[in-house]
Amino acid sequence: TFCLDPMEMIHEDPPQFYQVFESVAKKYDVMNDMMSLGIHRVWKDLLLWRMHPFPGTQLLDVAGGTGDIAFRFLNYIQAQHQRKQKRQLRTQQNLSWEEIAQKYQNEEDSLNGSHVVVCDINKEMLKIGRKKACAQGYKTGKSYRKNLQLGLAWVLGDAEELPFDDDKFDVYTIAFGIRNVTHIDRALQEAHRVLKPGGRFLCLEFSQVTNPLVSRLYDLYSFQVIPVMGEVIAKDWKSYQYLVESIRQFPAQEEFKEMIEDAGFQKVTYESLTSGIVAIHSGFKL
Ligand code: SAM
Repeated sequence: TFCLDPMEMIHEDPPQFYQVFESVAKKYDVMNDMMSLGIHRVWKDLLLWRMHPFPGTQLLDVAGGTGDIAFRFLNYIQAQHQRKQKRQLRTQQNLSWEEIAQKYQNEEDSLNGSHVVVCDINKEMLKIGRKKACAQGYKTGKSYRKNLQLGLAWVLGDAEELPFDDDKFDVYTIAFGIRNVTHIDRALQEAHRVLKPGGRFLCLEFSQVTNPLVSRLYDLYSFQVIPVMGEVIAKDWKSYQYLVESIRQFPAQEEFKEMIEDAGFQKVTYESLTSGIVAIHSGFKL
């Protein structure tokens, strides 16, 4: 069963991080930019380039929060479509300018059947994401099915127990989300279950810094600067201290790769970015 409206589902026993993200939700985007000095944007862009979605791709972005990956995905697909249209412009001289402009404006058409479902356990994060979508001109339908047609749907759900049928998606992404999940192995098994055979798992997450000098600077920055920023900007020292600690507890590149393999994924690889501050792990359901 699908959740049509994130506001309809209420978790009776929310885990510890729930309160964390509820309290950081309003300042989440601005804090992300401040803490990472804007670099998180580059890491997320890179995730999309690695995904390189084809027209018609059906993406599930788990722990999708305020929609950063989803918006990048839609922009990528639309840009791809516009490039194709421009090529057609040169070759199909029989199309009038009006016809071409009309095609350009048709959002549903420009998505070529692609869609993204943003799934998150926190309704406050989803609420902000939906507002952003509205501000960016994305249309919203009344039902989950209609939203899929329009290209973007928001679903309240737990990564450990996804509210989707088996073999549904071409790509599963999780960016800066899996370290907050209580049972990572369960989330990975769920990722495997909902992907179609041939589908791809992509995870962007903090990882282990490999360069000793960068590691010392990074420690200093994480433990001394980030909680202070959290207090000054979001009036929330504790939540940002939790975020820093959760980053340190997350398994390093090789260990996480093995966990992904244990969930049944094949051809698992990873790429460390910015001296290993983050890594992109990739695997296939074959
Ligand atoms: N992916 C977004 C991004 O990159 O900007 C948001 C990342 S944010 C650091 C982590 C998100 O994980 C939060 O929105 C939080 O609510 C969500 N989250 C934590 N545990 C979750 C779970 N078990 N299932 C689904 N979402 C979860």
